[in-house]
Amino acid sequence: MIEERTWVVINLDKLRNNFRNIKRHLINVKILGAVKAEAYGHGGIEVSKVLKEEGIDAVGVASVEEAVNLKSLGIPIIILSPTFSFDIPIIVDEGFIPTVTYTSFANQLEKEAERQQKRVKIHIEIDTGMGRTGVQYPEALQFICEIQKKKWIKIDGIFTHFAEAESNDKSFTYLQLERFNHIVNSLQEKAISISYYHTANSAAILNMKSSYFNMVRPGLLLYGLYPKEKKNVDVSPIMSLKSRICYLKWIDKGDSVSYGRTYKAKKRTNVATISIGYGDGLPRTLSDKGEVIIKGKRVPIIGNVCMDLTMVDVTDIDGIKIGDEVTVIGKEGNEEITADEVARISKTISYEITSNIGPRVPRIYTEKGIPILRKSLISGNCVNI
Ligand SMILES: *Cc1c(COP(=O)(O)O)cnc(C)c1O
Repeated sequence: MIEERTWVVINLDKLRNNFRNIKRHLINVKILGAVKAEAYGHGGIEVSKVLKEEGIDAVGVASVEEAVNLKSLGIPIIILSPTFSFDIPIIVDEGFIPTVTYTSFANQLEKEAERQQKRVKIHIEIDTGMGRTGVQYPEALQFICEIQKKKWIKIDGIFTHFAEAESNDKSFTYLQLERFNHIVNSLQEKAISISYYHTANSAAILNMKSSYFNMVRPGLLLYGLYPKEKKNVDVSPIMSLKSRICYLKWIDKGDSVSYGRTYKAKKRTNVATISIGYGDGLPRTLSDKGEVIIKGKRVPIIGNVCMDLTMVDVTDIDGIKIGDEVTVIGKEGNEEITADEVARISKTISYEITSNIGPRVPRIYTEKGIPILRKSLISGNCVNI
């Protein structure tokens, strides 16, 4: 019996399985796992530890603080997003691998590395069409050659990021790849050797072998989610989101439920209140639209989702009582609600659904179906159970 109002279950066996199935798909390709944003809400350190046991080569985060959180793993940590000059002393000191995309940052990095007498590894991001960050591709070769001359900086990798690798129309992704390849070839002609070239996110891993080079960067796939339709790598979701019924009542025809009174009962209705709301990361856009599973049956969310509580119509379910479990995301009996389904109703993507599950929701990790660990993101406490 799990004594929580709302909780996330992370199935570590499935995580291992997902990793192995991705790995099986690759030959002589290193894996940089994207574990930013608490591993898309699954728990950064716990997920990374398991991935390290499985032999992952490096992890990717978005900030220095995330890197600090993972430094005890003892594997390379690449900070995929830009960092700032105030981040440089700790980056050099801890040996984190920053992404470098402009000269003044590289100059400051070089200076600090010399001051600390520590060589710093970097990856250079090239913008081939994502339009977000990265040195613009026409200037990339010159930039790389310039950085190459720096004594205290080692260019460990160069990479680019695709804007729509999940799209059926791959023409833009191939154009990005061509721009990247042009730079890779030029570097090889100049005999500039760089350890890693990488471009592939999960979508490209699924459908674009020519994008692999010698490193890939899966995020979503590790967590068992697909960027689009299922493809040749077999993974399954590692996260379930559970809650409990905390109140039950019958209401009469015409009675309303929740803020704004958007729901009015058409007949006598049994209403269950469940202990989850948008303050836990349940999208408010599920109001009067989403469903949850109780006793193996789908039931509709009625009225507006509140910060801490949500109401569902349980008229059709027998023997219901306070304390009963609710599956918000996950499988129960023959029913399944996926993060993709929730995302579709909320007009967003599964990435946002899982990474928005808030710190108030403890993460319970299971092995062989048995809970082994409880992590609170509020206190940071992690206890064996
Ligand atoms: C998050 C991220 C990834 C992983 O993307 P998925 O679609 O989750 O596989 C890869 N590369 C970069 C630069 C990222 O920021």
